Amino acid sequence: MKHSDYLVKPGSKVSLKKFNPDDHGEFESKEEAAEKLKKDIEKLAELQDIFYAADTYSLLIIFQAMDAAGKDGAIKHVMSGLNPQGCQVASFKSPSVRELDHDYLWRTNVMLPERGQIGIFNRSYYEEVLVVRVHPQILDAQKLPEKLKKDGIWKRRYREINNFEQYLTDNGTKIVKFFLHVSKDEQKKRFLERINNPAKNWKLSPADVKERAFWDDYERSYEEMLSQTSTEQSPWYVVPADRKWFTRTVIADVLVKTLKSLHFEYPVPDKAHLDALQEAKATLEGEKK
Ligand code: ATP
Ligand code: MG
Repeated sequence: MKHSDYLVKPGSKVSLKKFNPDDHGEFESKEEAAEKLKKDIEKLAELQDIFYAADTYSLLIIFQAMDAAGKDGAIKHVMSGLNPQGCQVASFKSPSVRELDHDYLWRTNVMLPERGQIGIFNRSYYEEVLVVRVHPQILDAQKLPEKLKKDGIWKRRYREINNFEQYLTDNGTKIVKFFLHVSKDEQKKRFLERINNPAKNWKLSPADVKERAFWDDYERSYEEMLSQTSTEQSPWYVVPADRKWFTRTVIADVLVKTLKSLHFEYPVPDKAHLDALQEAKATLEGEKK
């Protein structure tokens, strides 16, 4: 798989029309991709173990998407092999009154992964240039000083986010970002399934259907966000999302490559530690039965 096919090249101007949500790469069916996905999930578990032991970098994985694009399912499946002790998921909904009393990065800041940990953001501060841009009344309700809400705000937010991610990178957090790209037709099918299947009723809020009226506005906001905030150190991937099995295959592939680029081996203890281990071994072996 060429994961570069889904990478947003830094500095490029993204048109989502050029990314096909129904793309399924070199695989004809779910069954054909199953082996690669299984292997990658196993590999992820191995790499996570080393990552945790090394306790040096953190990995932040950001998911953004329209409703029903499959964020939750992708997180559940791709992360299924991971050790829960080294992994945490944070979901970001409409901000609370307390959160609105702070700058927009505050609530995400406190949820960032510790060293050795993999942190998953199910939505993120990127909502601040997506839903907030599509619905200006949300910005009106934010308690920013009036003069700071003026025209340049979106450009400013892209810059702030890029600076923030640069800062995190410089301090040992590796960031990788996935936009799950579902088509409007496929979203409709999934919404209908959520209505027709009682076990899925809980997943659909009527507001999600109303939000479809803003589809084009969301597309434009996503395009600009992807164009402005995909960087060498924290790239965006536009992942085809009309076939859930392919979405998961791409995500697992990218994550394996990302983790591999950080650590290859378990940390080697220094000489004093190795000597102490030998001493401990002698003590254990010398114990009376
Ligand atoms: P599900 O798949 O279960 O629907 P979800 O991620 O869509 O998961 P919801 O409970 O529907 O979860 O709520 C998320 C909502 O919160 C989204 O509509 C999102 O746009 C909104 N939201 C997230 N961050 C912000 C923000 N900073 N400002 C305003 N709205 C936000
Ligand atoms: Mg929702």
